[in-house]
Amino acid sequence: MPVQIQTCGLVLDILLIYFFLRHETVGLFSERIFRFALVVNTVCVVLDILSIFGIVLREVLPAIVVAGVCKLYLVSLLASAFIGFLYTANDVQHLREDETFNRIIRIVFGLGVFFILVLPINFFHEGNVIYSYGMSTGVTYVFAPFFILGALVMTFSHGKYMNANRRNIIRAWMALEILAATLQYIFPQLLLVGFGSAIGLFVLYCELESPEVYLDRTTGIFSYDTLGLYLKQLFSEGRRFVGIMICTEDEWKMENEQENRILLEISEYLHSFPGAKLFRCSGNDFMLVYDGEQYEKNQIESAINLDVIKARFSEPFDGSMMIGAKFLYIPDARIATDCDEYLEICRINKDEMDRNETSRLLDEQSGSHIRQQRQIKSEIVNALAENRLQVHFQPIYSIEEDRFVSAEALARIVSSEGKLIMPGLFIPVAEEYGLIDQIGERVFEMTCRTFREKALKQMGIRYLEVNLSVAQCENTRLSEIYHRIMEQEEVEPTSINLEITESSTLHYRNILLENMNALGRLGCSFSLDDFGTGESNLNYIVDMPVQIVKFDRSMVQDYFVNERAKTVMRATVSMIKEIGLKIVAEGVETKEQLDAMEELGVDYIQGYYFSKPLAEKDFLNFLEVKNKVA
Ligand code: C2E
Ligand code: MG
Ligand code: MG
Repeated sequence: MPVQIQTCGLVLDILLIYFFLRHETVGLFSERIFRFALVVNTVCVVLDILSIFGIVLREVLPAIVVAGVCKLYLVSLLASAFIGFLYTANDVQHLREDETFNRIIRIVFGLGVFFILVLPINFFHEGNVIYSYGMSTGVTYVFAPFFILGALVMTFSHGKYMNANRRNIIRAWMALEILAATLQYIFPQLLLVGFGSAIGLFVLYCELESPEVYLDRTTGIFSYDTLGLYLKQLFSEGRRFVGIMICTEDEWKMENEQENRILLEISEYLHSFPGAKLFRCSGNDFMLVYDGEQYEKNQIESAINLDVIKARFSEPFDGSMMIGAKFLYIPDARIATDCDEYLEICRINKDEMDRNETSRLLDEQSGSHIRQQRQIKSEIVNALAENRLQVHFQPIYSIEEDRFVSAEALARIVSSEGKLIMPGLFIPVAEEYGLIDQIGERVFEMTCRTFREKALKQMGIRYLEVNLSVAQCENTRLSEIYHRIMEQEEVEPTSINLEITESSTLHYRNILLENMNALGRLGCSFSLDDFGTGESNLNYIVDMPVQIVKFDRSMVQDYFVNERAKTVMRATVSMIKEIGLKIVAEGVETKEQLDAMEELGVDYIQGYYFSKPLAEKDFLNFLEVKNKVA
């Protein structure tokens, strides 16, 4: 009986099933389809062998049994091709979720099965050449290639939605199927189809579906990438789940070997909680996901486990090492609308937690805050693309000269509905999402352009002040980029004053100083912004090459609180003046404040008393009137 090739295929399939089932799987769509493909392929090879026996023994067996087995074999063959098609379509999200598409391919499959079952089948047996033929077999030879070729075509037509490696492996798999079927068609004695499929699945297993690819190397638990894939799937299925994130401190100060030992110990410990899947997140963080069917039960169980885990982390690991950890508890995943948002909410909340906060419950509110941030982010991105970023100018008055000698450039975004969005709202978001460099450069470019094109110099404006974010100051290319912009806009660097803030978020002070020195050599001057807010104080004036200090609005207000404040402020002013710096008082709103600042010896005044920040046209009108330019 010529069943050696099929038997090899069967052995291979059984081995694959064994290896696949040995590991815990996370339950991704592709894993489920692969498991199904393994089962169908095994059944197919078994039926292949049985049908050979059936055909050979058809004289002694009832005709219906022989035809039945052969037809079932053909159905399983078709099913195997169909699953290959489903597996491929699963990689393309919009196809996976397209109901019409799914209905159509299921109908095609159903029709194939129907025709195989109802149409007549005949058998051929001569020596080693055994096969079935007739309309039932013919239908299989039409429908199965439809799915196999369809999958192949899909890897080309929708290739851009697939990861390149997966795309290539799927192509190889389909090519193997086609090769086996063609060979069998040409040489009917070579019953290669089942074996070819098994080899195809073997390739798929080795390259894509080995459960190992979903695991983290060090700890053997599911990796961060797998968490992303899995959460995406849970969100697309609309499943409710509970999450616990265990965030350990950023740097573990210990040998690599000990770190790995502790990571293993933590993973083993966390893995012991039944009903939860454990993932390694970025850094040395972990996440437990409770996604069982009974959501309420998950909530209770996870809450209990959270307390147990917290208690465990108050004890040492590896004998004596305390591992500081913070916990995020997310009882309902619906705080986010998708996986990216979910992980971002976790990340931002983790970063926000300070030393004294060890655990945080994330609810609807945490989600809405971050959704708002993301909305602002997309508003910024669109505003940049659609040129909806504007610069307003707030005039700065010189007490000595009794006129306006400067102005601060302040960014605004015109929303898609035409409303002005203030920088207090979008600058922090731009900093968070790495968009601040683009905004800063655009504002700088527009400021330079206004200065030159509107001939502000002739209107009495000596220089414009432009804000720099801390993140911009830490960009090593800042001075080079700003130099290029000034050249391109034909603006003298002496017409530019850059406002910087000393901040606790500044990581690379040396880069900031290098940038300041380079721009200073060109002729730019600098102001220390927000002086008196706690972020900036006298220490910074000592070694920062600034020429102007800007008193924050709060400082101007504090002056009127009591006598002590006045004394401190007088001393501060006299110290700053002694070093040879100029002072701008910001946020001056009343005549009383103006007089006080003048009496203190402040050089410049900026505030609503004279003017709010003005759009370019209004600013020009303002100057025309106030600086009495003809
Ligand atoms: P800042 O640099 O301290 O700017 C001064 C802020 O105080 C401006 O708010 C201004 O409108 C406001 N202000 C001025 N005088 C008065 C007053 O008399 N009363 C009151 N209540 N407020 C007054 P704005 O325009 O909302 O800007 C807020 C902050 O956003 C700025 O603070 C600055 O830190 C930042 N910012 C604005 N534009 C940019 C930019 O282009 N780049 C960067 N990095 N930051 C910017
Ligand atoms: Mg400023
Ligand atoms: Mg300020």
